[in-house]
Amino acid sequence: MLYNNSNTTRSSDFFAGCDRIESNGVTGYAVSVNEIIPYRKIEEIEGFRPERGMNYKIKDKNYSIVLMSVAKGAPYKDKISEDGKEIIYEGHNLNKRYCKNKNPNTFDQPVSLPNGKLTENGKFMKASHFFKDGLKEAEKIRVYQKIKPGMWTFNGVFNLVDGWEEKSEERTVFKFKLLLTDEKVEGYQTVIDDMVQDNRIIPGEVQIEVFNRDKGKCVKCGSTDHLHYDHIIPFSKGGTSKDAKNIRLYCRRHNLEKSDKIGK
Ligand SMILES: [Zn+2]
Repeated sequence: MLYNNSNTTRSSDFFAGCDRIESNGVTGYAVSVNEIIPYRKIEEIEGFRPERGMNYKIKDKNYSIVLMSVAKGAPYKDKISEDGKEIIYEGHNLNKRYCKNKNPNTFDQPVSLPNGKLTENGKFMKASHFFKDGLKEAEKIRVYQKIKPGMWTFNGVFNLVDGWEEKSEERTVFKFKLLLTDEKVEGYQTVIDDMVQDNRIIPGEVQIEVFNRDKGKCVKCGSTDHLHYDHIIPFSKGGTSKDAKNIRLYCRRHNLEKSDKIGK
């Protein structure tokens, strides 16, 4: 399953008016958890176009990348916990070329390929076992979530802390438990961390509902650039992330104005 698509925002002025930030010699545009970004922003941050859902230490990086979706018709059953701290990420199917024209959903998800090499499922399982056995630190995973074609959310940097197999409709699938960390994406995620009062993410279904309800625009000024999910009543004051009524789309300017007020 390819997550990439040609319906990618290409507007060169998407980042107009946005602060460029520098960190350790890397210059980029700030991104924060719960920010809506075009696919090309992922390409800018990662230096390539991730197309597969699971990318274990891809391109010799010291972290992994997963793409997820909870939209209707999404290929896998990924879940964000209600407290916004945990993702249960489903492993991936047998490659179509080995499925003999049958639906990949009817095969057990593979841990290895016919040539014996580990699949991404296998690599994630191995990393989670190393962690559980105390042999290695948890694998760092950056999570990007698809909202609609070309539109994504950055869900943050997670630790891979567990992996297991379970039965799902007559076959075996892998599940991976990812816990949100407060780790930042170097060179991209520094300036606006204050905006996230608590480090957690909004359940995927709520993200999609709010994006569609607010028509992909800031509810205050109609801007379509640098949108964030904003809590009307903040987490810290008991506001919920589970209910779309408590979430709205704000542009960066209005989100910052609001966090200024809350901070004072
Ligand atoms: Zn605005």
